[in-house]
Amino acid sequence: MKSYDVAIIGSGPGGYVAAIRCAQLGMKTAIIEKYSTLGGTCLNVGCIPSKALLSSSHHYEEATKHFEDHGIEIPGDIKVNLEKMIGRKQAVVDQTTGGIDFLMKKNNIDVFEGLGSFIDATHIKIEGKDAQEIEAKKVIIATGSKPSNLPFISLDKERIITSTEALKLKEVPKHLIIIGGGVIGLELGQVYRRLGAEVTVIEYMDRIIPTMDAGLSKELNKVFKKAKCKMMLSHKVQSVERNGDEVVVKAENKKGEVVEFKGDYCLVSVGRKPYTEGLNLEAAGVKMNDRGQVEVNEHLQTSTSNIYAIGDVIKGAMLAHKAEEEGTFVAETIAGQKPHIDYNLIPGVVYTWPEVAAVGKTEEELKADNVAYKVGQFPFRALGRARASGDIEGFVKILADKTTDEVLGVHMIGARCADLIAEAVVSMEYRASAEDISRMSHAHPTFAEAVKEAALAATDNRALHV
Ligand code: FAD
Ligand code: NAD
Repeated sequence: MKSYDVAIIGSGPGGYVAAIRCAQLGMKTAIIEKYSTLGGTCLNVGCIPSKALLSSSHHYEEATKHFEDHGIEIPGDIKVNLEKMIGRKQAVVDQTTGGIDFLMKKNNIDVFEGLGSFIDATHIKIEGKDAQEIEAKKVIIATGSKPSNLPFISLDKERIITSTEALKLKEVPKHLIIIGGGVIGLELGQVYRRLGAEVTVIEYMDRIIPTMDAGLSKELNKVFKKAKCKMMLSHKVQSVERNGDEVVVKAENKKGEVVEFKGDYCLVSVGRKPYTEGLNLEAAGVKMNDRGQVEVNEHLQTSTSNIYAIGDVIKGAMLAHKAEEEGTFVAETIAGQKPHIDYNLIPGVVYTWPEVAAVGKTEEELKADNVAYKVGQFPFRALGRARASGDIEGFVKILADKTTDEVLGVHMIGARCADLIAEAVVSMEYRASAEDISRMSHAHPTFAEAVKEAALAATDNRALHV
């Protein structure tokens, strides 16, 4: 029987990063993955393929709607070849997952293909291609998550689908009905809207992306409405039925009326749930909480002391970079180091266009905590760089402590915000004040100048360009 210092179950961004860090720290490491490709949800059916389709559909939209403004004329019709677009997406995925194979080899990590389950706290059974039993002093559970569903919906994965199927459709829907105005619904909704589908978003709450700052929800809602998406907020879905090629969704509005929607595809994107099926956690004495997550303490240690858990399978935001930080954290903890994660400073990004990004506290949270704060906001339309490229939608909003000027939250919507948020994370890691940011030189002309201007506005209302 092969024996390891650490065995990791699951090869998503949590698991494979943990494996690399364990190997870097000198541990003999194994990783077990039930699928034939490494990289988990993120690389195979999540972050990477969705961003590939967002990029392709963005190019199409630019070509059909904006090239002319720039004086670029394309003779003849511009058409979408969906098969090719999906094929390109798959090529990006294959290249990226292949990169993880390379990293495993480079770091001398043993990869086992098969379903891992606990025999006891230090022994794992692998069923599948590399069937065998292995022994490990420490185990890291990194089994991720699967799409959630509503109890009355029967997902046929053809017309009533999850994100996994939406990433490989064979045709552009005529009318895509999306249940859930969260990250997945909006990113994939924008992809198919750009490609020509009619899109209806049905959201239970009174705003889309309801966990983000309300200012961002409002602005993004405007963007979707401008693109002629139907945004049905405060609607509670009651039933989803398929009749042949038609899907009928019924939802109750605020007045208690039942509204009917007819489309040809329905994407159910109402969140994801932790995945622990088949792990046989009981055999290792690992406890779960009432939300189905593996229970961990502040060291990400489960109820069995040699077993740790990270990523989507435990509490917290279901984000790839959160899982990665936790992978590093656990590897370093096992090695006897004292790592630290500030969960308040894990940024959240929605990769629509304009992009939405945030870190730290929202206005709603600061109000609820009775924190006295000030707001500095700056619109992208006032920037020369934004006008030069034609990306003038959105703003940067900085929330700073009213007395100390420390930055408490940064919320932005606009071009390149997914990258701009990194400046806010660095600033907040070093506990910068709004004035600190406002006094740093930002290259001109850049989108990043909006961050400086918002900081100037927060400092003492002295933005320069509005
Ligand atoms: P996962 O990536 O889910 O990996 C878990 C792995 O464990 C899987 O490969 C699974 O097969 C394997 N596994 C499970 N059980 C076993 C077992 N018993 N034995 C062996 N293997 C097992 N996050 C972002 O930060 N940015 C984004 O842009 C983004 N976009 C997304 C888009 C979509 C459409 C989706 C669905 C998700 C997106 N996410 C994004 C979320 C992100 O994918 C997850 O937060 C991330 O993948 C979680 O990583 P993880 O390592 O915890 O688990
Ligand atoms: P989500 O939690 O982001 O959004 C789900 C939405 O569905 C919420 O707005 C919620 O109010 C709504 N909803 C719930 N029940 C409903 C009902 N009965 N009727 C109508 N609406 C209902 O979840 P998601 O979009 O499915 O994404 C799952 C996870 O994947 C998220 O946690 C997210 O962090 C992650 N993800 C991240 C990215 C990214 O970082 N860019 C992209 C995609 C997915």
